[in-house]
Amino acid sequence: MGRRLIPYRQNWPMLFTMVGGAAMMAAGLFFLMAPPPSEAQPAMHPTPAPIDGRRAFGYLEQICKIGPRVAGTEANTQQRRMVAEHFRKCGLTVREQPFVTVHPLTGHRVDMANLIGAWHPERLHRLVLCAHYDTRPHADEEINPDRLGLPFIGANDGGSGVALLMEIAHHLDAIASPYGIDLVLFDGEELVYGNNPRRGEYFLGSTIFARTYASQRSDRSRARVQYVGGILFDMVGGKEMVIKREPNSVEMAPTIMREVWGVARQLKARSFSNAFGREVLDDHLPMNRAGIPTIDLIDFDYPHWHKVDDIPENCSAESLAEVGQVVTGWLSLPKHGPR
Ligand SMILES: [Zn+2]
Repeated sequence: MGRRLIPYRQNWPMLFTMVGGAAMMAAGLFFLMAPPPSEAQPAMHPTPAPIDGRRAFGYLEQICKIGPRVAGTEANTQQRRMVAEHFRKCGLTVREQPFVTVHPLTGHRVDMANLIGAWHPERLHRLVLCAHYDTRPHADEEINPDRLGLPFIGANDGGSGVALLMEIAHHLDAIASPYGIDLVLFDGEELVYGNNPRRGEYFLGSTIFARTYASQRSDRSRARVQYVGGILFDMVGGKEMVIKREPNSVEMAPTIMREVWGVARQLKARSFSNAFGREVLDDHLPMNRAGIPTIDLIDFDYPHWHKVDDIPENCSAESLAEVGQVVTGWLSLPKHGPR
């Protein structure tokens, strides 16, 4: 592969032959047997929030001005504090979920933290919207080796999901949902310096979040929160965005998929495609394994993925707004999960 490292979001044929074959066959069978999306869902009446795409894009720019936001750095902490303050102003109950890892290159301790903004924290039945907020240490999809060492800003990969969560935080009070809602920022999604596991592991924050949830669910002495469904944002702000159906999401959280694509269809959201995208290994996998049915909204055809040009100029207020409308439309549904 030369300098080009194998991305964790492996290419489709490789994953199909290596690990994904059985899963994909199951997903394919599911879709062969399931009615087409237009018939799969009873009538829904989503009420999307008036998402302000310009304001969301302003958050994206504000985040990018901090610079690279690699896990364990001061810039990463600065961003987390900025979002925490924003969530508080929007009326959310905010807490951090700290954890520690070892730096894959230096062996030094790295302090990380997820950030959780809770709307109606007293409600035990909850929905979760999440995104990673750390950025990759290097733009290692750069073909030109001279550009490999340039700063990676992660406007779409890292910035867009956080910006959208910040915009959605403005609208929660107006959403008539019977559920509590958690907005969660994951740290340590990609403190990774290559595809060798010794050079870093993926999904550290989401794994901690999911494990903590699973252990609380098994503790019968406590009032137990139950997550009914979740949506992960990853690259939801690119220009000319296309969000295809991600196969792991289809297989692991089929009901949430049908709900969200049903809302997208009703809202005529043009960037949501019925086509299958590539299988993506992402923060939604630990969530689903912990019993939180979670889909990944991801534009994996974004041409600047893990490249130096993943900057605000290649992102779009309209893309952020459209995803925000679909997601708040989904939040507004009176019931989630199996019907
Ligand atoms: Zn990435």
